[in-house]
Amino acid sequence: MPGEGAVINPFETARKQIDIVCDLLKINGGTREILKSPKRELTVNFPVRMDDGSYKVFQGHRVQYNMARGPTKGGIRYHPQVTLDEVRALAAWMTWKCAVVNLPYGGGKGGVVCDPKHLSQTELERLTRRYAVEIAPIIGPEMDIPAPDVYTDSQTMSWIMDTYSMMKGFSVPGVVTGKPISLGGSEGRGEATGRGCSYVIREAAPHAGVQMKGASVAVQGFGNAGSVTAKLLHDEQGAKIVAVSDSRGGITNPAGLDPHKVEAHKVKTGSVLGYPGAKPVSNTEILEMKVDVLVPAALENQITAKNAGKIQAKIVAEAANGPTTPDADDILFAKKITVLPDILANAGGVTVSYFEWAQDIQGFFWPLDEVNQRLERVMVRAYGEVHKVAVERKVHNRTAAYVVAIQRVVDAIKVRGIFP
Ligand code: NAD
Repeated sequence: MPGEGAVINPFETARKQIDIVCDLLKINGGTREILKSPKRELTVNFPVRMDDGSYKVFQGHRVQYNMARGPTKGGIRYHPQVTLDEVRALAAWMTWKCAVVNLPYGGGKGGVVCDPKHLSQTELERLTRRYAVEIAPIIGPEMDIPAPDVYTDSQTMSWIMDTYSMMKGFSVPGVVTGKPISLGGSEGRGEATGRGCSYVIREAAPHAGVQMKGASVAVQGFGNAGSVTAKLLHDEQGAKIVAVSDSRGGITNPAGLDPHKVEAHKVKTGSVLGYPGAKPVSNTEILEMKVDVLVPAALENQITAKNAGKIQAKIVAEAANGPTTPDADDILFAKKITVLPDILANAGGVTVSYFEWAQDIQGFFWPLDEVNQRLERVMVRAYGEVHKVAVERKVHNRTAAYVVAIQRVVDAIKVRGIFP
């Protein structure tokens, strides 16, 4: 998302990243142009009836960035600052994320320019259903499968699934993922991002000289992705969670925090602040703590050229999307800090979304242990593939992840050939 007073165009950033990897892989000409161009874009302007009887026109987009490897996959965002270029960038990143974990998907993304905090539940439902009808010609289980993103959730997905099904005349659960279990959602989807992240950290630890049993961990952003990562590192790998934070600030205890009790405190009071026996720590300080593992799980642009020199963690595992800026990446690499890039570290979410879709189209649902085992297999293999490229090419993990992903998309483009 663009920052305050943003001059950085996210799609320009996305295109530059593609150029860097294309230079490295010597991909030129038409293939490079395909990689840098969104395949299909739809912008819709549609009226929604407000609760007071008036009508307002909203603008929405759906971008299908690249579908060489399969149907496009990606969330729908409701935010006042949604722009077509932001949606294009997010759709490009989804293309690489799906490819790096080897899902049979391309990447897509959608967005509606609106402020959901100023819409009632009934207005949100009408907006969602109308947007679903507007984009219906280009979505579907075989074409493009939306999911939740910023300010959309399982209720939003249920409305889209219902609207699309009404248009078809039969239930089509596979048109979206991130649905409630009662509507064809998957076991394990809720904790998939954090679980995937914990597997990737476990795999990277030996290469980064970290012993996970007793390792110190700081988590910025104790929300869905951050709290699940913390709980699993604590419960399954014996790590010590020494600091966590949320939008109001953070807490630290060098002796270790019980993430389950911190979560209960947050549910009760609305924040991690005030947790008994812990000292306060700011959201800036938490990033610079001397810990084995730092998990940025909140916002983008948290580690920049300004503070990268002060990062002391051995592993930075990006549960959040885009927490590290490109210039900070170079500083962390020079400091020999192992960065587990977002498109790999938080791909557990889209992986279980893929499992949800696969279960929906088969009409056959898997128990939780099967979902988790399959997720573990995907994440372990993806980490291994990225690590191998990083070592062979002497590049950092983010470049390596892009190399793996873009090479896979290029392979698909090549074998398919150019039509006609
Ligand atoms: P969430 O809303 O559940 O949690 C976000 C947490 O960050 C909250 O605890 C919030 O208080 C905290 N926060 C907000 N502003 C902060 C600040 N300035 N400093 C510190 N903490 C702050 O959201 P989430 O689903 O856990 O998503 C977090 C990140 O993970 C996002 O970047 C998201 O794109 C990414 N991600 C999530 C998923 C998923 O499946 N949930 C998948 C892929 C990527």
